Amino acid sequence: MRRPARVFVHLAAGVSGVCFVIAVGIWIASYGSRYTLIVGSLRSNRTFSVSRGEASVDSVTLHGELARTMSSDDESRWKKDLPDDPGFDPETVAGFRFHRINAEDVTGFSLSFPIPVVAALFALLPLADVLMIRRRRRRGRRLAAGLCVRCGYDLRASRDRCPECGTVPTAQPATPGGAGG
Ligand SMILES: [Zn+2]
Repeated sequence: MRRPARVFVHLAAGVSGVCFVIAVGIWIASYGSRYTLIVGSLRSNRTFSVSRGEASVDSVTLHGELARTMSSDDESRWKKDLPDDPGFDPETVAGFRFHRINAEDVTGFSLSFPIPVVAALFALLPLADVLMIRRRRRRGRRLAAGLCVRCGYDLRASRDRCPECGTVPTAQPATPGGAGG
């Protein structure tokens, strides 16, 4: 990978790592309280909430007579209260739940998912980055020591091709006496 691309991957992995820590913090906090962010008006709003390890996104829009009785003024706000009672929801499949609200005077949807799933997704890029760094370091060490970069076989006697795994070295190791390769 080219160097600017590597820097970008490191930065993205860093941001992803911070998001992972935040997600884990929200996950833990969601067992102590239910946190809700409501964006929009009484007539049409989006609700983002966390409670007992579960995150939910709810979208509700009122129509007709019901909508006329409600304010359309933006009333975005934070709420913090007791977490939901633990209970069994038959609609939940592996921690995920989705349903549409499609009534005459109210439409929208409700989506719920486990917060650890989000945390795990944010962990993927930092983990991949760490593995990539380790792999590159090992490759550098093996090249410097005159070993096959793939399997670690000693190539000082056979430089053209690894007799163990068949890898053809792409760069010559910088060992004393290795000049002219
Ligand atoms: Zn090899």
